[in-house]
Amino acid sequence: MRKTVDVILRNDFHGTKCSVKIPANVRHHTVSRSTYYKICRDLCGSPTCTCGQIRGYQDVHIDVDIDIGPDGRSCDTFTITQDKN
Ligand SMILES: [Zn+2]
Repeated sequence: MRKTVDVILRNDFHGTKCSVKIPANVRHHTVSRSTYYKICRDLCGSPTCTCGQIRGYQDVHIDVDIDIGPDGRSCDTFTITQDKN
């Protein structure tokens, strides 16, 4: 059985939060693009909002990777680091 943990992500601008399941036994986990967009929808929902989607206090360390893919579209995702130390 694969073990996962739920990580809570927050947006203090909209007062929203959502959870994402990540593998329990890894320190760094990069979410898929589809997961990233689902999280953005859950936390903000407005594609034109400039709140930054994941903002405010978080339980985990988040590194957002904003990248432009070969097709010219952005392929944003982010990496969750489970412990802050
Ligand atoms: Zn927003």
